Amino acid sequence: MAVVDKAVAGGGEAQQPEPAAEASTFAELGVCRELVEACDAMGWKQPTKIQAGAIPHALQGRDVIGLGQTGSGKTGAFALPIIQALLEHRQPFFACIMSPTRELAIQIAEQFEALGSAIGLVCSVLVGGVDRMQQVLSIAKRPHIVVGTPGRLLDHLKDTKGFSLTKVKYLVLDEADKLLNLEFKESLDDILKVIPKERRTYLFSATMTKKVSKLQRACLRNPVKVEVSSKYSTVDTLKQEWYFVPADYKDCYLVHVLNELPGSMIMIFVRTCESTRLLALTLRNLGFKALSISGQMSQDKRLGALNKFKAKDFNILICTDVASRGLDIQGVDVVMNYDIPMNSKDYVHRVGRTARAGQSGYAVSFVNQYEAEWFKLIEQLLGREIPDRKVDMDEILILREHISDSKRIALTKLREDGGHKKRRKAAEDDDDEEEEAPRGHRQKSRSFKKSSRR
Ligand code: AMP
Repeated sequence: MAVVDKAVAGGGEAQQPEPAAEASTFAELGVCRELVEACDAMGWKQPTKIQAGAIPHALQGRDVIGLGQTGSGKTGAFALPIIQALLEHRQPFFACIMSPTRELAIQIAEQFEALGSAIGLVCSVLVGGVDRMQQVLSIAKRPHIVVGTPGRLLDHLKDTKGFSLTKVKYLVLDEADKLLNLEFKESLDDILKVIPKERRTYLFSATMTKKVSKLQRACLRNPVKVEVSSKYSTVDTLKQEWYFVPADYKDCYLVHVLNELPGSMIMIFVRTCESTRLLALTLRNLGFKALSISGQMSQDKRLGALNKFKAKDFNILICTDVASRGLDIQGVDVVMNYDIPMNSKDYVHRVGRTARAGQSGYAVSFVNQYEAEWFKLIEQLLGREIPDRKVDMDEILILREHISDSKRIALTKLREDGGHKKRRKAAEDDDDEEEEAPRGHRQKSRSFKKSSRR
């Protein structure tokens, strides 16, 4: 095995896959006219970085290891060379693509079909959870490309007459890091045994784990390695953790962690404008220097609040994704996800507020039972697991009563503000709110804050 080439690309924040800087057209990469037209029809004006890195080598007949996430344009990076080779040598069961999930297999097949629509490409999707008879019928059409999950693919190899992979010229292992999970291992091994050794192999993975490099050694010949860093990766100087938090105790966990980080510059993200104010008031009642910015405030007021945060008059800023967008905030030590974003990309934008320009930073997420799924999606987007932390429940329970009191007082104040119009005005006057917090309570809170740090 020799890794002879490496194209490393940086990050960005665009929604589309990033185009390659140097290679400007698919034709320049060696893609044939029919497929350049197909890319055009798909609206792919320029190759992405992984496409620019992989396609020229693949067209020269090299095996390829592609390190990049879903979203980088990796399907095109392996589909275009395969279809181009198919144009020169049409045969059924020309390529076999293995994916760990049904959804991904379907997406891959859709891209093959779209790119190959003008040349009569036939594709078959063999995944679990779908009627087998339909799949047997689609195999009977002798497809050029078979995309499947290992288990169902193997079932058909065993049971479906006329289905064989012994003539396969191209094998793709997509999301190889996930394909190597135990649940797939046996099926994968069995399939590899029946696929001819004389073939081209493309292996794509989000990360190069030990298992993936072992598979690479067993499966690939003299591969070229193409690596693009994910648009949605986080920097190494950022420490990320999460707590599993019962929904009713979220405030307690938050205060517990805030107590561990005295003096840090902290941004706390919540879902709604209403929660920014409620949380800011609650924390102030507990003696924290918290300020909120929300969409209910004018841009001027928002900037005013932001300046107070920057000047460190307040060290905690509570905001929503929308309110914080477009604001240039430097020097943040900690980002807290009080509410977990439904859109995983928002997580990356949020935590990117800290650990900037090589500085260290800390991001902590409070994940309740309803948000666990979203947090999983975030980990998938990042291509890695984030470690979780546990707390002694007794420490949390000590805080509970006092926090409930503070929240009740905050809620009463918000209710007194009453009506939307009044609330808007109150949000604008947010800066003065510290003066408005009930005095006796604040004093009590301060002593509480100290004692809770024991
Ligand atoms: P993938 O990473 O293969 O799942 O692709 C992610 C999305 O990017 C898909 O919707 C593709 O259609 C799209 N895409 C792939 N290549 C390009 C390209 N060169 N230009 C624009 N979009 C692309």
